[in-house]
Amino acid sequence: DHQAVSACLADPTRYLTNAQTVQRLSRDFYWYSPVLKALLDDKTAEAVAQPISIEEITATLACCHARNIPVTARGAGTGNYGQAIPLHGGIVLDLARMDAIEEITPEGVAITGPGTRLGVLETHARTLGWELRCYPSTVAKASVGGFLGGGSGGIGSVAHGGLRDFETVRFIDVVTMEPTPRLIHHAGNQVHEVIHSWGTNGIIVRIGLALTPAVDWAQCAVAFPTFAAAYDFSEAIATQDTWTKRLITTFEHPIPAAFAPIVNITRPGQALIFFMIAASQLEALQAAAEAAGGVVTHAAPYQGLRTQPLLSDYTWNHTTLWAMKLDPEYTYLQCGFSPTEVRSQFAQLKQKYGEDFLFHIEFMKNGTGAVIPGSIPIVRFSTVARLNEMIDFCRSIGVFVANPHSNNVEGGGRYHPDNIQLITKQKYDPQNLLNPGKMATFS
Ligand code: FAD
Repeated sequence: DHQAVSACLADPTRYLTNAQTVQRLSRDFYWYSPVLKALLDDKTAEAVAQPISIEEITATLACCHARNIPVTARGAGTGNYGQAIPLHGGIVLDLARMDAIEEITPEGVAITGPGTRLGVLETHARTLGWELRCYPSTVAKASVGGFLGGGSGGIGSVAHGGLRDFETVRFIDVVTMEPTPRLIHHAGNQVHEVIHSWGTNGIIVRIGLALTPAVDWAQCAVAFPTFAAAYDFSEAIATQDTWTKRLITTFEHPIPAAFAPIVNITRPGQALIFFMIAASQLEALQAAAEAAGGVVTHAAPYQGLRTQPLLSDYTWNHTTLWAMKLDPEYTYLQCGFSPTEVRSQFAQLKQKYGEDFLFHIEFMKNGTGAVIPGSIPIVRFSTVARLNEMIDFCRSIGVFVANPHSNNVEGGGRYHPDNIQLITKQKYDPQNLLNPGKMATFS
Protein backbone atom coordinates (compact mmCIF):
# COMPACT_ATOMS: atom_id res chain seq x y z
CA ASP A 1 0.00 0.00 0.00
CA HIS A 2 2.81 2.43 0.92
CA GLN A 3 4.39 1.91 -2.47
CA ALA A 4 1.14 2.53 -4.31
CA VAL A 5 0.31 5.75 -2.42
CA SER A 6 3.84 7.15 -2.62
CA ALA A 7 3.76 6.57 -6.39
CA CYS A 8 0.98 9.20 -6.60
CA LEU A 9 3.56 11.89 -5.77
CA ALA A 10 6.08 12.96 -8.40
CA ASP A 11 8.77 12.92 -5.70
CA PRO A 12 8.47 9.90 -3.36
CA THR A 13 10.49 11.70 -0.67
CA ARG A 14 7.28 13.64 -0.01
CA TYR A 15 5.77 10.42 1.32
CA LEU A 16 6.86 10.08 4.93
CA THR A 17 6.85 6.92 7.03
CA ASN A 18 9.30 7.78 9.82
CA ALA A 19 7.29 6.98 12.96
CA GLN A 20 8.25 10.14 14.86
CA THR A 21 7.52 12.44 11.93
CA VAL A 22 4.23 10.70 11.21
CA GLN A 23 3.19 11.03 14.85
CA ARG A 24 4.11 14.73 14.92
CA LEU A 25 2.09 15.39 11.77
CA SER A 26 -0.84 13.38 13.14
CA ARG A 27 -1.27 15.74 16.06
CA ASP A 28 -2.72 19.13 16.72
CA PHE A 29 -3.40 21.11 19.89
CA TYR A 30 -5.91 18.49 21.16
CA TRP A 31 -4.11 18.45 24.54
CA TYR A 32 -5.73 21.82 25.22
CA SER A 33 -8.68 19.84 26.41
CA PRO A 34 -8.21 17.42 29.31
CA VAL A 35 -11.09 15.41 27.86
CA LEU A 36 -9.61 15.16 24.35
CA LYS A 37 -6.11 14.52 25.66
CA ALA A 38 -7.25 11.28 27.28
CA LEU A 39 -9.25 10.34 24.19
CA LEU A 40 -6.68 11.02 21.46
CA ASP A 41 -3.21 10.55 22.94
CA ASP A 42 -2.58 7.23 21.16
CA LYS A 43 -4.05 8.11 17.75
CA THR A 44 -1.77 8.37 14.74
CA ALA A 45 -1.64 7.89 10.97
CA GLU A 46 0.56 5.29 9.28
CA ALA A 47 2.12 7.69 6.77
CA VAL A 48 2.04 11.29 5.57
CA ALA A 49 1.66 12.41 1.94
CA GLN A 50 2.77 15.92 1.03
CA PRO A 51 1.21 16.74 -2.36
CA ILE A 52 2.15 19.89 -4.25
CA SER A 53 -0.63 19.95 -6.86
CA ILE A 54 -4.31 19.24 -7.34
CA GLU A 55 -3.30 16.41 -9.68
CA GLU A 56 -1.26 14.75 -6.93
CA ILE A 57 -4.14 15.13 -4.47
CA THR A 58 -6.59 13.60 -6.94
CA ALA A 59 -4.26 10.67 -7.64
CA THR A 60 -3.66 10.11 -3.90
CA LEU A 61 -7.38 10.12 -3.09
CA ALA A 62 -8.17 7.72 -5.95
CA CYS A 63 -5.43 5.36 -4.80
CA CYS A 64 -6.57 5.50 -1.14
CA HIS A 65 -10.18 5.03 -2.18
CA ALA A 66 -9.33 1.88 -4.11
CA ARG A 67 -7.55 0.48 -1.04
CA ASN A 68 -9.99 1.67 1.61
CA ILE A 69 -7.31 3.84 3.27
CA PRO A 70 -8.56 6.72 5.46
CA VAL A 71 -7.25 10.21 4.60
CA THR A 72 -7.07 13.08 7.06
CA ALA A 73 -6.33 16.57 5.73
CA ARG A 74 -3.86 18.74 7.59
CA GLY A 75 -3.06 22.41 7.22
CA ALA A 76 -0.73 23.51 10.02
CA GLY A 77 -2.20 21.35 12.81
CA THR A 78 -3.01 24.28 15.10
CA GLY A 79 -6.62 23.20 15.67
CA ASN A 80 -7.43 22.64 19.32
CA TYR A 81 -10.25 20.11 19.03
CA GLY A 82 -8.33 17.10 17.70
CA GLN A 83 -9.85 17.90 14.33
CA ALA A 84 -6.78 16.87 12.33
CA ILE A 85 -5.99 13.71 14.33
CA PRO A 86 -6.76 10.50 12.41
CA LEU A 87 -8.91 8.20 14.51
CA HIS A 88 -8.47 5.21 12.23
CA GLY A 89 -4.90 5.38 10.95
CA GLY A 90 -4.43 5.73 7.19
CA ILE A 91 -2.61 8.72 5.80
CA VAL A 92 -2.37 12.37 6.71
CA LEU A 93 -2.62 14.60 3.65
CA ASP A 94 -0.28 17.44 4.61
CA LEU A 95 -1.26 20.43 2.46
CA ALA A 96 1.39 22.84 3.75
CA ARG A 97 3.21 22.87 0.41
CA MET A 98 0.11 23.97 -1.52
CA ASP A 99 0.86 27.52 -0.46
CA ALA A 100 0.85 29.63 -3.62
CA ILE A 101 -1.03 32.93 -3.53
CA GLU A 102 -2.35 33.07 -7.10
CA GLU A 103 -3.55 36.65 -7.01
CA ILE A 104 -5.35 39.34 -5.10
CA THR A 105 -8.02 40.62 -7.45
CA PRO A 106 -8.72 44.35 -7.86
CA GLU A 107 -11.98 43.73 -5.91
CA GLY A 108 -9.94 42.43 -2.94
CA VAL A 109 -10.43 38.67 -3.21
CA ALA A 110 -7.38 36.55 -2.41
CA ILE A 111 -7.14 33.45 -4.56
CA THR A 112 -4.87 30.98 -2.86
CA GLY A 113 -3.91 27.38 -2.26
CA PRO A 114 -5.03 25.74 0.99
CA GLY A 115 -1.56 25.62 2.59
CA THR A 116 -0.90 29.36 2.50
CA ARG A 117 -0.22 30.63 5.98
CA LEU A 118 -2.74 33.24 7.08
CA GLY A 119 0.08 35.45 8.35
CA VAL A 120 1.81 35.37 4.96
CA LEU A 121 -1.47 36.26 3.24
CA GLU A 122 -2.18 39.09 5.70
CA THR A 123 1.30 40.59 5.27
CA HIS A 124 1.16 40.29 1.49
CA ALA A 125 -2.37 41.71 1.30
CA ARG A 126 -1.40 44.74 3.37
CA THR A 127 1.31 45.64 0.87
CA LEU A 128 -1.50 45.91 -1.70
CA GLY A 129 -3.85 47.93 0.52
CA TRP A 130 -5.96 44.99 1.74
CA GLU A 131 -6.09 42.90 4.91
CA LEU A 132 -7.84 39.76 6.19
CA ARG A 133 -11.39 40.30 7.40
CA CYS A 134 -10.83 37.93 10.30
CA TYR A 135 -8.11 35.57 11.46
CA PRO A 136 -7.38 33.28 14.41
CA SER A 137 -4.79 34.21 17.01
CA THR A 138 -2.70 31.39 15.50
CA VAL A 139 -2.37 33.52 12.35
CA ALA A 140 1.41 33.12 12.11
CA LYS A 141 1.23 29.35 11.59
CA ALA A 142 -2.34 28.47 10.64
CA SER A 143 -3.23 27.80 7.01
CA VAL A 144 -6.11 29.23 4.99
CA GLY A 145 -7.45 25.71 4.25
CA GLY A 146 -7.25 24.68 7.92
CA PHE A 147 -9.02 27.88 8.97
CA LEU A 148 -11.84 27.08 6.54
CA GLY A 149 -11.82 23.40 7.57
CA GLY A 150 -11.90 23.88 11.31
CA GLY A 151 -11.81 27.52 12.40
CA SER A 152 -14.53 30.08 12.85
CA GLY A 153 -13.28 33.62 13.40
CA GLY A 154 -11.04 35.75 15.53
CA ILE A 155 -9.30 39.08 15.26
CA GLY A 156 -11.41 41.24 12.91
CA SER A 157 -14.66 39.40 13.74
CA VAL A 158 -15.84 42.38 15.80
CA ALA A 159 -16.12 44.26 12.49
CA HIS A 160 -16.62 41.53 9.88
CA GLY A 161 -18.19 38.57 11.66
CA GLY A 162 -16.87 35.04 11.37
CA LEU A 163 -15.75 33.03 8.36
CA ARG A 164 -19.32 31.95 7.67
CA ASP A 165 -20.67 35.52 7.51
CA PHE A 166 -20.95 38.21 4.84
CA GLU A 167 -19.71 36.00 1.98
CA THR A 168 -16.16 36.13 3.27
CA VAL A 169 -15.51 32.74 1.67
CA ARG A 170 -16.29 33.55 -1.98
CA PHE A 171 -15.52 30.15 -3.41
CA ILE A 172 -13.74 26.89 -2.77
CA ASP A 173 -12.66 24.15 -5.15
CA VAL A 174 -13.09 20.75 -3.52
CA VAL A 175 -11.78 17.30 -4.46
CA THR A 176 -14.13 14.43 -3.63
CA MET A 177 -13.28 10.98 -2.26
CA GLU A 178 -14.67 8.69 -4.94
CA PRO A 179 -13.28 6.01 -7.30
CA THR A 180 -12.57 8.86 -9.72
CA PRO A 181 -12.32 11.97 -7.53
CA ARG A 182 -14.06 15.04 -8.96
CA LEU A 183 -12.98 18.68 -8.64
CA ILE A 184 -16.06 20.69 -7.73
CA HIS A 185 -16.38 24.46 -7.60
CA HIS A 186 -18.50 25.77 -4.70
CA ALA A 187 -19.51 29.42 -4.81
CA GLY A 188 -21.89 31.58 -2.80
CA ASN A 189 -23.96 29.65 -0.29
CA GLN A 190 -22.58 26.33 -1.54
CA VAL A 191 -19.34 26.94 0.38
CA HIS A 192 -21.22 26.11 3.60
CA GLU A 193 -21.62 22.53 2.40
CA VAL A 194 -17.90 22.00 3.06
CA ILE A 195 -16.43 24.72 5.29
CA HIS A 196 -16.10 23.86 8.97
CA SER A 197 -16.61 20.16 8.23
CA TRP A 198 -13.16 19.18 9.57
CA GLY A 199 -12.07 17.70 6.24
CA THR A 200 -14.77 15.01 6.46
CA ASN A 201 -16.54 15.71 3.18
CA GLY A 202 -13.96 16.95 0.69
CA ILE A 203 -10.46 18.35 0.35
CA ILE A 204 -10.39 22.12 -0.21
CA VAL A 205 -7.69 22.75 -2.81
CA ARG A 206 -8.28 26.35 -3.95
CA ILE A 207 -9.89 29.24 -2.12
CA GLY A 208 -11.33 32.67 -2.92
CA LEU A 209 -11.27 34.68 0.32
CA ALA A 210 -12.74 38.19 0.44
CA LEU A 211 -10.46 40.78 2.08
CA THR A 212 -11.21 44.28 3.36
CA PRO A 213 -9.37 47.57 2.76
CA ALA A 214 -6.35 47.83 5.09
CA VAL A 215 -6.61 50.19 8.05
CA ASP A 216 -3.77 51.95 9.86
CA TRP A 217 -4.22 50.30 13.29
CA ALA A 218 -3.06 51.05 16.81
CA GLN A 219 -3.03 48.84 19.90
CA CYS A 220 -4.25 49.94 23.29
CA ALA A 221 -4.60 48.31 26.72
CA VAL A 222 -6.81 49.73 29.45
CA ALA A 223 -7.08 48.53 33.08
CA PHE A 224 -10.23 48.96 35.16
CA PRO A 225 -10.65 48.32 38.89
CA THR A 226 -13.62 46.00 38.32
CA PHE A 227 -14.71 43.62 35.59
CA ALA A 228 -18.13 45.29 35.53
CA ALA A 229 -16.57 48.67 34.65
CA ALA A 230 -14.30 47.10 32.06
CA TYR A 231 -17.23 45.26 30.50
CA ASP A 232 -19.37 48.41 30.34
CA PHE A 233 -16.63 50.35 28.59
CA SER A 234 -15.69 47.59 26.15
CA GLU A 235 -19.33 46.96 25.29
CA ALA A 236 -19.85 50.66 24.52
CA ILE A 237 -16.87 50.79 22.15
CA ALA A 238 -17.87 47.46 20.57
CA THR A 239 -21.44 48.46 19.85
CA GLN A 240 -20.93 52.08 18.72
CA ASP A 241 -20.50 52.13 14.93
CA THR A 242 -18.34 55.25 15.06
CA TRP A 243 -15.33 53.28 16.32
CA THR A 244 -13.23 51.48 13.70
CA LYS A 245 -11.97 48.39 15.51
CA ARG A 246 -10.41 45.02 14.84
CA LEU A 247 -10.18 43.56 18.31
CA ILE A 248 -11.87 44.16 21.66
CA THR A 249 -11.03 41.61 24.35
CA THR A 250 -12.02 41.96 27.98
CA PHE A 251 -10.39 39.89 30.73
CA GLU A 252 -11.51 39.36 34.29
CA HIS A 253 -8.83 39.35 36.96
CA PRO A 254 -6.78 37.14 37.50
CA ILE A 255 -6.52 36.13 33.81
CA PRO A 256 -4.07 38.99 32.99
CA ALA A 257 -1.74 37.66 35.71
CA ALA A 258 -0.98 34.83 33.26
CA PHE A 259 0.46 37.20 30.64
CA ALA A 260 4.05 36.91 31.89
CA PRO A 261 5.89 38.64 29.00
CA ILE A 262 3.70 41.75 29.22
CA VAL A 263 3.19 42.01 32.95
CA ASN A 264 4.13 45.70 32.72
CA ILE A 265 0.88 46.49 30.91
CA THR A 266 -1.32 44.59 33.39
CA ARG A 267 -2.36 45.93 36.80
CA PRO A 268 -2.49 43.61 39.84
CA GLY A 269 -6.04 42.72 40.80
CA GLN A 270 -7.59 44.64 37.89
CA ALA A 271 -9.59 43.77 34.79
CA LEU A 272 -7.99 44.52 31.44
CA ILE A 273 -9.16 45.34 27.90
CA PHE A 274 -7.11 44.97 24.73
CA PHE A 275 -8.04 46.98 21.65
CA MET A 276 -6.96 47.19 18.07
CA ILE A 277 -8.43 50.51 17.00
CA ALA A 278 -7.92 52.83 14.02
CA ALA A 279 -4.75 54.84 14.71
CA SER A 280 -6.72 58.02 13.96
CA GLN A 281 -9.04 57.19 16.90
CA LEU A 282 -6.38 56.20 19.44
CA GLU A 283 -6.32 59.53 21.27
CA ALA A 284 -10.10 59.68 21.43
CA LEU A 285 -10.22 56.12 22.78
CA GLN A 286 -7.65 56.91 25.49
CA ALA A 287 -9.64 59.98 26.53
CA ALA A 288 -12.90 57.99 26.63
CA ALA A 289 -11.24 55.22 28.68
CA GLU A 290 -9.89 57.67 31.24
CA ALA A 291 -13.24 59.44 31.47
CA ALA A 292 -14.83 56.05 32.24
CA GLY A 293 -12.36 55.43 35.11
CA GLY A 294 -9.83 53.32 33.23
CA VAL A 295 -6.05 53.61 33.12
CA VAL A 296 -4.33 53.29 29.74
CA THR A 297 -1.40 50.94 30.32
CA HIS A 298 -0.23 50.65 26.73
CA ALA A 299 -0.86 52.60 23.52
CA ALA A 300 1.30 52.14 20.42
CA PRO A 301 1.12 51.97 16.66
CA TYR A 302 0.53 48.59 15.06
CA GLN A 303 3.21 47.68 12.53
CA GLY A 304 1.97 44.37 11.26
CA LEU A 305 2.19 40.92 12.78
CA ARG A 306 5.76 41.49 13.95
CA THR A 307 4.69 44.29 16.31
CA GLN A 308 6.01 43.73 19.85
CA PRO A 309 4.18 43.20 22.03
CA LEU A 310 1.45 41.93 19.74
CA LEU A 311 -1.64 42.15 21.94
CA SER A 312 -3.58 39.65 19.82
CA ASP A 313 -1.09 36.99 21.01
CA TYR A 314 -2.99 37.10 24.31
CA THR A 315 -6.52 37.02 22.91
CA TRP A 316 -9.01 34.50 21.51
CA ASN A 317 -7.78 31.00 22.26
CA HIS A 318 -4.28 32.20 23.11
CA THR A 319 -5.73 33.45 26.38
CA THR A 320 -6.40 29.82 27.32
CA LEU A 321 -2.83 28.86 26.48
CA TRP A 322 -1.45 31.54 28.82
CA ALA A 323 -3.89 30.59 31.58
CA MET A 324 -2.88 26.92 31.31
CA LYS A 325 0.76 27.94 31.74
CA LEU A 326 -0.21 29.72 34.94
CA ASP A 327 -2.27 26.82 36.26
CA PRO A 328 -2.60 23.49 34.42
CA GLU A 329 -6.03 22.97 36.00
CA TYR A 330 -7.47 25.73 33.84
CA THR A 331 -9.37 24.81 30.73
CA TYR A 332 -12.00 26.66 28.71
CA LEU A 333 -15.43 26.82 27.15
CA GLN A 334 -16.70 28.67 24.09
CA CYS A 335 -19.79 30.71 24.84
CA GLY A 336 -22.07 33.38 23.48
CA PHE A 337 -23.78 35.62 26.00
CA SER A 338 -27.11 37.30 25.32
CA PRO A 339 -26.49 41.00 24.54
CA THR A 340 -29.53 41.94 26.63
CA GLU A 341 -29.19 39.44 29.52
CA VAL A 342 -25.40 39.43 29.73
CA ARG A 343 -25.09 41.14 33.11
CA SER A 344 -27.59 38.84 34.76
CA GLN A 345 -25.86 35.84 33.14
CA PHE A 346 -22.51 37.05 34.53
CA ALA A 347 -24.06 37.38 38.01
CA GLN A 348 -25.58 33.89 37.93
CA LEU A 349 -22.31 32.30 36.81
CA LYS A 350 -20.30 34.17 39.45
CA GLN A 351 -22.71 33.16 42.17
CA LYS A 352 -22.57 29.51 41.17
CA TYR A 353 -18.90 29.07 40.24
CA GLY A 354 -16.97 32.02 41.68
CA GLU A 355 -13.28 31.87 40.76
CA ASP A 356 -13.80 28.61 38.84
CA PHE A 357 -15.40 30.51 35.94
CA LEU A 358 -13.40 33.52 34.75
CA PHE A 359 -14.78 35.85 32.11
CA HIS A 360 -12.88 36.39 28.89
CA ILE A 361 -15.02 38.28 26.39
CA GLU A 362 -14.42 38.55 22.64
CA PHE A 363 -16.85 40.90 20.97
CA MET A 364 -17.93 39.79 17.53
CA LYS A 365 -20.42 40.75 14.87
CA ASN A 366 -22.99 38.10 14.03
CA GLY A 367 -24.56 37.43 10.63
CA THR A 368 -27.31 39.99 11.26
CA GLY A 369 -24.79 42.77 11.85
CA ALA A 370 -25.26 43.00 15.64
CA VAL A 371 -22.15 43.03 17.83
CA ILE A 372 -22.49 40.42 20.56
CA PRO A 373 -20.38 39.36 23.58
CA GLY A 374 -18.75 36.11 22.51
CA SER A 375 -16.66 34.50 25.18
CA ILE A 376 -13.93 31.95 25.80
CA PRO A 377 -14.16 31.74 29.59
CA ILE A 378 -11.39 30.10 31.55
CA VAL A 379 -12.83 27.41 33.78
CA ARG A 380 -11.26 25.17 36.37
CA PHE A 381 -11.28 21.50 35.41
CA SER A 382 -11.82 18.82 38.00
CA THR A 383 -13.94 16.10 36.38
CA VAL A 384 -15.71 15.61 33.07
CA ALA A 385 -19.00 15.47 34.96
CA ARG A 386 -18.43 18.91 36.48
CA LEU A 387 -17.40 20.35 33.11
CA ASN A 388 -20.57 19.00 31.55
CA GLU A 389 -22.57 20.35 34.44
CA MET A 390 -21.08 23.82 33.78
CA ILE A 391 -22.09 23.53 30.11
CA ASP A 392 -25.62 22.48 31.08
CA PHE A 393 -25.90 25.35 33.54
CA CYS A 394 -24.73 27.89 30.93
CA ARG A 395 -27.36 26.61 28.49
CA SER A 396 -30.05 26.68 31.19
CA ILE A 397 -29.53 30.42 31.68
CA GLY A 398 -29.48 31.17 27.93
CA VAL A 399 -25.70 31.20 27.36
CA PHE A 400 -24.85 29.48 24.06
CA VAL A 401 -22.05 26.91 24.34
CA ALA A 402 -20.05 25.35 21.48
CA ASN A 403 -18.41 22.47 23.34
CA PRO A 404 -14.65 22.52 22.63
CA HIS A 405 -14.18 19.21 24.44
CA SER A 406 -15.94 17.26 21.74
CA ASN A 407 -14.19 15.49 18.87
CA ASN A 408 -16.87 15.65 16.21
CA VAL A 409 -18.33 18.32 13.97
CA GLU A 410 -21.77 18.04 15.52
CA GLY A 411 -20.57 18.26 19.14
CA GLY A 412 -18.46 21.33 18.39
CA GLY A 413 -21.64 23.30 17.90
CA ARG A 414 -21.08 24.64 14.39
CA TYR A 415 -23.11 21.98 12.64
CA HIS A 416 -25.74 23.23 10.22
CA PRO A 417 -29.25 22.31 11.34
CA ASP A 418 -30.23 21.57 7.72
CA ASN A 419 -27.61 18.75 7.69
CA ILE A 420 -26.01 20.21 4.60
CA GLN A 421 -22.53 19.01 5.62
CA LEU A 422 -23.84 15.48 6.15
CA ILE A 423 -25.67 15.43 2.80
CA THR A 424 -22.44 16.58 1.16
CA LYS A 425 -20.50 13.80 2.86
CA GLN A 426 -22.99 11.25 1.54
CA LYS A 427 -22.30 12.60 -1.97
CA TYR A 428 -18.55 13.23 -1.84
CA ASP A 429 -17.31 10.55 0.56
CA PRO A 430 -19.86 7.73 0.61
CA GLN A 431 -17.28 5.23 1.93
CA ASN A 432 -16.45 7.43 4.93
CA LEU A 433 -12.73 7.60 4.24
CA LEU A 434 -12.19 11.33 4.86
CA ASN A 435 -11.29 11.87 8.53
CA PRO A 436 -13.62 9.03 9.53
CA GLY A 437 -15.30 9.27 12.92
CA LYS A 438 -15.43 13.06 13.00
CA MET A 439 -18.90 13.43 11.48
CA ALA A 440 -20.83 11.49 14.07
CA THR A 441 -24.18 11.51 12.24
CA PHE A 442 -22.74 9.73 9.19
CA SER A 443 -23.39 6.01 9.15
P1 FAD B 1 -5.54 22.23 10.97
O1 FAD B 1 -5.50 22.12 12.46
O2 FAD B 1 -4.44 21.60 10.22
O3 FAD B 1 -6.92 21.64 10.43
C1 FAD B 1 -8.15 22.02 10.98
C2 FAD B 1 -9.25 21.12 10.40
O4 FAD B 1 -9.44 21.41 9.03
C3 FAD B 1 -8.94 19.63 10.46
O5 FAD B 1 -10.12 18.90 10.67
C4 FAD B 1 -8.39 19.30 9.09
O6 FAD B 1 -8.63 17.95 8.73
C5 FAD B 1 -9.20 20.26 8.23
N1 FAD B 1 -8.49 20.72 7.04
C6 FAD B 1 -7.25 21.26 6.96
N2 FAD B 1 -6.98 21.61 5.71
C7 FAD B 1 -8.06 21.26 4.96
C8 FAD B 1 -8.36 21.33 3.58
N3 FAD B 1 -7.53 21.86 2.70
N4 FAD B 1 -9.57 20.85 3.15
C9 FAD B 1 -10.46 20.32 4.03
N5 FAD B 1 -10.21 20.23 5.35
C10 FAD B 1 -9.03 20.70 5.80
N6 FAD B 1 -9.52 29.17 15.74
C11 FAD B 1 -10.31 30.22 15.41
O7 FAD B 1 -11.21 30.09 14.58
N7 FAD B 1 -10.12 31.43 16.01
C12 FAD B 1 -9.13 31.65 16.92
O8 FAD B 1 -8.95 32.78 17.36
C13 FAD B 1 -8.31 30.55 17.29
N8 FAD B 1 -7.33 30.71 18.21
C14 FAD B 1 -6.54 29.65 18.54
C15 FAD B 1 -5.51 29.81 19.49
C16 FAD B 1 -4.72 28.75 19.87
C17 FAD B 1 -3.64 28.97 20.87
C18 FAD B 1 -4.93 27.47 19.27
C19 FAD B 1 -4.07 26.29 19.64
C20 FAD B 1 -5.93 27.29 18.32
C21 FAD B 1 -6.74 28.38 17.94
N9 FAD B 1 -7.73 28.25 16.96
C22 FAD B 1 -8.54 29.30 16.64
C23 FAD B 1 -7.88 26.99 16.22
C24 FAD B 1 -6.96 26.93 14.95
O9 FAD B 1 -5.68 27.46 15.24
C25 FAD B 1 -7.52 27.71 13.77
O10 FAD B 1 -8.84 27.34 13.49
C26 FAD B 1 -6.64 27.56 12.51
O11 FAD B 1 -7.16 28.38 11.52
C27 FAD B 1 -6.57 26.15 11.99
O12 FAD B 1 -5.70 26.15 10.87
P2 FAD B 1 -4.67 24.96 10.63
O13 FAD B 1 -4.04 25.19 9.31
O14 FAD B 1 -3.77 24.78 11.77
O15 FAD B 1 -5.71 23.75 10.53
